[in-house]
Amino acid sequence: MVAQNIAYLREHGPSPIAELPGRQIRPADRKADIRRFTLTVSGGTRIGGSCSTVAYLAAHDRKAVLRTFLEDNPGVIANRRFRDFQKLLSEMNREWKAPSREIRDEFFDKPDEKDADGHPQPSEQECPHCGDAVSFGEIPNHIRNGCEAFAEV
Ligand SMILES: [Zn+2]
Repeated sequence: MVAQNIAYLREHGPSPIAELPGRQIRPADRKADIRRFTLTVSGGTRIGGSCSTVAYLAAHDRKAVLRTFLEDNPGVIANRRFRDFQKLLSEMNREWKAPSREIRDEFFDKPDEKDADGHPQPSEQECPHCGDAVSFGEIPNHIRNGCEAFAEV
């Protein structure tokens, strides 16, 4: 089934595991470098349920993996803001942060920028150094503690 799974992924791009010919990823698939993407269990709990898993190949665009995942898990978009999603991603693996920013506008609403009286009240702003969404007023703290642009390599 490994060969069929790989052929399917080559043809269709990143796909929910349930759509694969083998319907699951076995150790042999992982050996053949079929990879899996989902939010971790604790992340799944925090977004309000378990998430499906997307299978992909090393050659696949990470943005396409995230698009497939979000299309298959609309609850993530309904329940969480982009900032929360990005946080879950970076807890898993920082490789997902940059591609997640690029697809942000396709899936997530802009944060509500008005307070109860209708005055502009940005709830988050973009870090000028790394582009992360950060709570309004938290940029200095972010730069000290979480900014990729200042992270030690
Ligand atoms: Zn930053």
